[in-house]
Amino acid sequence: MENEIYDVIIIGGGAAGTASAALLSKWGLKVLLIEKSDHLGGRASTLSLPNGFRIDTGVHGIPYYDLGALKKIENELEIDLDLVDYTPLLAFYDAEEEINVEVFDFSNEGFKEVDRIWGHGGKFIELLNFLRNSTDDDADKLDNISVKDYFGKYSQYHQFQQLLRAINGMITITPELGSAGEFVRSFSKLFSSKRPITYPRTGGIQSLSELMGSICETYGGTILTSTPVQEILVKNGKVVGIKTKKSEKDGRILQQEIKADSILVTIPLQNLFEIISKEHFSASFIQKIHSLKDKQSCAQGIGVAFKEELLDDFPWNPKCWGAIVFQPGKRPRYLSVPSALVEGLAPPGQHYMFYGVVATPEEIKDKKATKERLKVLINELNNLFPRLKKLKGWHFSGSSEMVLGTAKRVGMTGAFKPRNVSEDVEGLFFAGDTAEGNGPGLECTYDSALKCSRKLLKWLQTQKGDIP
Ligand SMILES: Cc1cc2nc3c(=O)[nH]c(=O)nc-3n(C[C@H](O)[C@H](O)[C@H](O)COP(=O)(O)OP(=O)(O)OC[C@H]3O[C@@H](n4cnc5c(N)ncnc54)[C@H](O)[C@@H]3O)c2cc1C
Repeated sequence: MENEIYDVIIIGGGAAGTASAALLSKWGLKVLLIEKSDHLGGRASTLSLPNGFRIDTGVHGIPYYDLGALKKIENELEIDLDLVDYTPLLAFYDAEEEINVEVFDFSNEGFKEVDRIWGHGGKFIELLNFLRNSTDDDADKLDNISVKDYFGKYSQYHQFQQLLRAINGMITITPELGSAGEFVRSFSKLFSSKRPITYPRTGGIQSLSELMGSICETYGGTILTSTPVQEILVKNGKVVGIKTKKSEKDGRILQQEIKADSILVTIPLQNLFEIISKEHFSASFIQKIHSLKDKQSCAQGIGVAFKEELLDDFPWNPKCWGAIVFQPGKRPRYLSVPSALVEGLAPPGQHYMFYGVVATPEEIKDKKATKERLKVLINELNNLFPRLKKLKGWHFSGSSEMVLGTAKRVGMTGAFKPRNVSEDVEGLFFAGDTAEGNGPGLECTYDSALKCSRKLLKWLQTQKGDIP
């Protein structure tokens, strides 16, 4: 490898890196993709547990596939993805009143019932209609206002606020932190999509990145896993390659320099300066990257494996995309049973579910409060499903700090979104969910991968004569 010069080295084998690798290889570039962990997928990975369960570490659904960037990438690659459609079924369950309302297809019909019970005089439907009919221009005007401040005007009733939190919770950004513009942009598409939530038929969400990786290799690209990039090498303001660092089994450290005309970075950008010196960048860019450091949105919850017969105890249809559980005086809880939706995620006769709540980064930092919160969640689950103790296999509890970069302003989930092309270092490109794009994470990720790959190809064509 040390003798090769690649057209592009892609750093990171998550959704953005693998999609870019597939596209750029197909377009005829000499591509090297480098991933530090032992598998492709990044935050869209699927753990295969020894006991037969398969658990997604992050993404549980691909948003608005028919309107989104993944479909454009699929067309560009001339492939057919095998995706199943989740029935867009949302369940709302009031644990105090034991009222259950199921909303199919995100239709107004279903939401009218929700509105009648919790929405207070048509305010919820008013909000949904606003979301359905909004344009990108409407969204752009709301980027600097928080979800809480903007949508709070619809109603001050606490049930309405819970509904809002619940919808917002689907993208796991607390209403105080999320930008109203990003919210509108995402949900106007989600509610008008014909295939709002899809998922790979087999292989879990990670299979998408694996497929993209194999397409890259089919077109002559190279993939290195278990290889962290230590440094991006820059000479006279232009990228010239990378240095990797790898620990061998016998304890040796293997370092390697690999040359390339361009570098595409897809790691979360708050970690950028771990692999490239700040000295190459303007003060304003450095300051913006530092502003991305905070963790913005978090979820805490428990995963529980159980025997299938517990599905009969659900007061709502467990094969729903997500259930919002209201309880008096508490934040709404979010419950999903992914293995009831997609076959093969659990061994026959068993299932798993997640039960959790959206929290702020500050709340998660408080260890004592976190312990208490998780204890409360476990107790609640046991109350909701008294037979759980008997039918439970194993459970884990934890927190995830997530979706960095998916909101454009407010609360800084990405106070800025960097452009795909570096303004400071020639030949340096950025893609992933912190770079261009909008909406829930994966859509934003694929959108930026496609845009960035096009820009990179065009740039290389202007630099080199032999690019197709
Ligand atoms: C808990 C959770 C739930 C989510 N749910 C959803 C959902 O339901 N729907 C949705 O659309 N989105 C969801 N998201 C967001 C979605 O996962 C991300 O938007 C998307 O996966 C980001 O992809 P990426 O390629 O930009 O980044 P990543 O997946 O983070 O990829 C970056 C890759 O770079 C690698 N890397 C880092 N440093 C180095 C280095 N020095 N050298 C080499 N490689 C390196 C990492 O190992 C990683 O594989 C969720 C995220 C989380 C965390």
